[in-house]
Amino acid sequence: MPYSPKPGTPISALDTPSILVDLPTFHSNIQKLTQRLLPTGVRIRPHLKTSKSAAVARHLSTAGCQGFCVAKLSEAEIMVGLGITDLLITCEVIGDVKVGRLVELWGKEEGSDVRVIVDCIEGVKKIEMAMREAGLTGKRSVLVDLDVGLQRTGVRGVEAARELARYIRDECEMLELIGIQGYEGHVQHIHGDEARKTACLNSMKILVETAEALGRDGHDIRVVTCGGTGTAEVCASIPGITEVQPGSFVFMDTDYQSAIGGFYDNSLTILCTVISKQGPKRVTIDAGLKALTTDSGLAQCKDSRYTYGVLGDEHGFLTWTDARDLEVGDRVEMVPSHIDPTVNLFDVYFAHREGVVEEVRRVGARGMVQ
Ligand code: PLP
Ligand code: MN
Repeated sequence: MPYSPKPGTPISALDTPSILVDLPTFHSNIQKLTQRLLPTGVRIRPHLKTSKSAAVARHLSTAGCQGFCVAKLSEAEIMVGLGITDLLITCEVIGDVKVGRLVELWGKEEGSDVRVIVDCIEGVKKIEMAMREAGLTGKRSVLVDLDVGLQRTGVRGVEAARELARYIRDECEMLELIGIQGYEGHVQHIHGDEARKTACLNSMKILVETAEALGRDGHDIRVVTCGGTGTAEVCASIPGITEVQPGSFVFMDTDYQSAIGGFYDNSLTILCTVISKQGPKRVTIDAGLKALTTDSGLAQCKDSRYTYGVLGDEHGFLTWTDARDLEVGDRVEMVPSHIDPTVNLFDVYFAHREGVVEEVRRVGARGMVQ
């Protein structure tokens, strides 16, 4: 029989390394977020950069989330193709090729609402020009991207935001300014709730004041969007914020856990196999750099008595002092240190309940980094 895991397959019958998602924990993470945020009236537009999965998007919609973020245009193409059509692309769309793809997506997907952010006049000009050349009809929505301290993208300061907004209103026939994004990524992993909250409030002050200045200029700023897993709740409590974009909370990772504590639980693990015994208290497992990213520290074994180390592309090791001895063929689950790039290493995830696979889902936008 060819290897083809399906709903009903026990996880003991899965090959490794494989992504496992524990469904009760996954749903509980979503419920924890929605229980706190839905009563605020702020729209939850989760970021799909984490799961890259339309199935996860559908679970989130069922729980009350409205629309989604994607990081890249190519992720948007995939999601629109899978029927997820209310999207904000949170990276600038720059370069003739990408602008061409954006206009193509806008042109062919009637009824979809794909919004983009912009942070410079040159970028806006190129998009407007490409839309005219393609003969698009009707306006498409853009948001001014504002730097609120991350120093990644975004216009710097109120005056730059006003100038860009004015340009969109006065010079663009095809683009409508609907809002502003100010993503405070530098704040997400600050340790300690109070310190993180203080830093977040500083960033949000910049965002809300800029949104208000644009409003005074006569722009209809209907969307003020920001926030991640570490800050969504604080952002949603601030008057003037209309939308939050958390992503990692669905699965979590060890880096986030160490920063924000255990409010959300790790729902995603990498199932691995012990493939060699290298000493009485040391084994090699089949997960190295191609299965577990290391930019945010090393992954941890779900059973914390075992310590992980990297041995290269395909291998890692586990050592222990006071735990059951691992033997060749044993299975272990590893918790990723940084969830987004780890998920991007796999084609499929297996969502299970008590060890029985319930959903086999494609990581649909895996590798979509354009
Ligand atoms: N919004 C933007 C613009 C992001 O870049 C990210 C993550 O990098 C998020 C939201 C989601 O944040 P998190 O994964 O911390 O929940
Ligand atoms: Mn990340």
